Amino acid sequence: MKPQDRILDQVTTPGRYRALELNAARKDPDAVKLRACLAFPDTYEVGMSHLGARLLYHLLNEQDWIWCERAYAPWRDMEDALRRERIPLSALESGDPLAIFDLIGFSLTYELGYTNVLNVLDLGGIPLLAAEREDGHWPVIIGGGPCASNPEPMADFFDAFLFGDGEEAALEIARAVSDWKAAGEPKSRLRERLSEIPGVYVPAFFQPVYKDGRLIEVKALKPCYDRVRRRILPDLDSAYFPTRPLAPVIEPVHDRVMVEIARGCARGCRFCHAGIIYRPVRERSTTKVLELARSGLAATGYEECSLLALSAGDHGCIGEMLLGLIREHYGSRVSVSLPSLRVQGLSDAMLTAIETVRKTGFTLAPEAGTERLRRVINKDFTEAELMATARRVFDHGWRTLKLYFMVGLPTETEEDLRGIVRLADMISRLKGAQGRPQVSVSLSGFIPKPHTPFQWEAQASVERLTEVQEFLRGEFSGRGRKVKWQDARMSWLEGVLSRGDRRLGAAVLGAFRRGRRFDGWSEHFRQEDWVAALADAGLDPATYLAARDLDSVLPWDRLDPGVSREWLRAERDRAYAETISPDCREGCFECGACDHDLVDPRRQPAGAGDGPVSLPERRPEPETFFLFRVRYARREEMRLLGQLDVTRLFTRAVRRAGLPIRYSQGFHPMPRIMFGPSPPLGVASEAEYIDLELIRRMPEAEVARRLQAAFPSGIEALEVRELPPRSAPISAIVNGFDYSVTPPDGLAFDRRRAQQFLDRETLVITQRREKGDREVDLRSRVKSLEVMDDGRLLMSLRVVEGPGVRPQEVAQHVFGLSEDEVRALAIVRLAARFKEARPVRYPGKNEQVRRAGPSRAG
Ligand code: SF4
Repeated sequence: MKPQDRILDQVTTPGRYRALELNAARKDPDAVKLRACLAFPDTYEVGMSHLGARLLYHLLNEQDWIWCERAYAPWRDMEDALRRERIPLSALESGDPLAIFDLIGFSLTYELGYTNVLNVLDLGGIPLLAAEREDGHWPVIIGGGPCASNPEPMADFFDAFLFGDGEEAALEIARAVSDWKAAGEPKSRLRERLSEIPGVYVPAFFQPVYKDGRLIEVKALKPCYDRVRRRILPDLDSAYFPTRPLAPVIEPVHDRVMVEIARGCARGCRFCHAGIIYRPVRERSTTKVLELARSGLAATGYEECSLLALSAGDHGCIGEMLLGLIREHYGSRVSVSLPSLRVQGLSDAMLTAIETVRKTGFTLAPEAGTERLRRVINKDFTEAELMATARRVFDHGWRTLKLYFMVGLPTETEEDLRGIVRLADMISRLKGAQGRPQVSVSLSGFIPKPHTPFQWEAQASVERLTEVQEFLRGEFSGRGRKVKWQDARMSWLEGVLSRGDRRLGAAVLGAFRRGRRFDGWSEHFRQEDWVAALADAGLDPATYLAARDLDSVLPWDRLDPGVSREWLRAERDRAYAETISPDCREGCFECGACDHDLVDPRRQPAGAGDGPVSLPERRPEPETFFLFRVRYARREEMRLLGQLDVTRLFTRAVRRAGLPIRYSQGFHPMPRIMFGPSPPLGVASEAEYIDLELIRRMPEAEVARRLQAAFPSGIEALEVRELPPRSAPISAIVNGFDYSVTPPDGLAFDRRRAQQFLDRETLVITQRREKGDREVDLRSRVKSLEVMDDGRLLMSLRVVEGPGVRPQEVAQHVFGLSEDEVRALAIVRLAARFKEARPVRYPGKNEQVRRAGPSRAG
């Protein structure tokens, strides 16, 4: 048991803090040269939705000399528990504290995660400042991801940053750290080694110089290391991509197989940071995408595959790809999703593919309310094209459409703001297949980002954005439209940090010391703490939001995205001239990202067309089915799962097992898996039940074998029995469960107290619940209670009408245990008790079996 395990039942979603996933890497720590940990400065659910971090995790673990683990920002309750109990934050796989690792790599995807970076280091027992880690065995701290394009506000805390694609560089960094460690060299030598890796920015080799509060120079301190060129992977098809991705049990925000179909974008939206720092566009071939989808789905049991790209609809073979995926997987009830679609070019194939996913609502991002302003930002579509797309969406049966807009864009006028309202009105007047649609509007403040043509622009202040909000609120009033605003104060902070300089490190540290965490979560955001931290650091946030002189020194000047400053300035001029720059696949305009030798846009040859795609007919579900009851054990960390997690786990395990499961009827059929009563969270079990309806009879042993092969560690199929198809569900026949409770060292159950309790007629306790307290007679729920010679407590609890009781409550109230003592108990559900046995006949079998006794599967 690891120290962190002691507190897991004090926190929400404890499964976040252990590696419960199938396909997680487990290695012998003594057999590897390098122990790495990929840390994500947000919750497990958010971090696990990030493809880049997951890709690097598998890539590093492909090497037998590396064990790469994971850590996520602990939620506030976990942080409180860790600090209270003085337990260091540990990695999910081994449970070892972060401080013992050789290398920790942070994904920096969002500036508002910076205080979480510091919190992860602090809870891991690692000094925050790189300068404090100069001596001693501290992990090397590396950052990567979009924020590494201007990492200066975090420069004081990191040893190095990777700017650009990580597939090759991550291994080179790991090798450099491993060699440095083996050689026992000083930290200065590590910095030398890292700076020799293309794409790696070592902040200690650059020194910002300020005059009168302004940055006037970023001095390069190491000869021949004055610019760090972004690392670019020329070809995606030959690049590493995981074929056996992690299959999470705790539900991530994006819970599906993710296949990256293209990197980079050729459209050139002038506000878009990713559009610049991932240039040029590189497409993955249809064959490769189909292959990765196939292996990912088989390895995880997911029922959805998402095709990821900055603009998925722009992939040259998108129609062919969708057709291939639908043909191959629709019959096995896999849907295909495309999270990023443009207003133009929405094909029938795309709409049909999206129809395979639950119709929650369709999203389009016009970004600006008038064609004029869209020309400024280089969004090249007309109002007529937007209306035509919306009409097609409604004709395909969608009833709700969400429209994304930015406010505070350069050159924005009142007319542009009114345009937002007008567009929403026009679209909501369209009539679709299902009648009048619902149109909602989502508005966020424009944030000028480094390396974009708008990097010199002013950002609208909180006051200005509030004025715009008021104005639009007035314009929208009485129209019954749902309008959602991004918090202007959060845009303010993102703006300060994204174009910030190294001095901001003191403010990030100050905000962290003031208790800031999860700044990207509006309910946790406290602007006043940031205002105070900035003031303490002697910094005026307004200077970071103000327009920059075109010739000024910028904090990120030493980081070279490939795209030249001259080109960015020319694009800015074109923005002010309201001139569109076309898609660069139609003709290169020499932005500088390509060398036209190794690095060039990689387009796949046009595929087999993009005509209408109809969904294949699904075979109707047969009326007859074969019912199998499975008894299984849930041990170790699997006891930390809630019922929804267990449902998800089994749904996917059954798919991975390739069992011919029967589905419910309807547009979104669900597998027919019925669950028996679950034990309380934290209780292990040897007596869990599910019923499976299969459309083909299989030997019981084969069902058990296949399930076992598909289960993650900690779940074991104990018994599989076939039952008559209309048998009563397990919940109708179970009338009690037996539990064993083992006390921790130093705690003993008192036999006399057990007997006193059994002698009572009643013992009414109060159960505290979110929905209100309630009273329950504990005595009537306890069938037997016995303290064994080995110190364990055995209890049999009745399942009755009305509220049940948990074994923890029995131990607490009968023996007067404190909450801490109750938490330290090791509880296992040993067996289920069933109502009276009766003979059952199995279809097609000339035998009679009696259903009876505890712990039998039927
Ligand atoms: S160099 Fe040319 S082709 Fe390459 S990304 Fe820039 S504009 Fe596009």
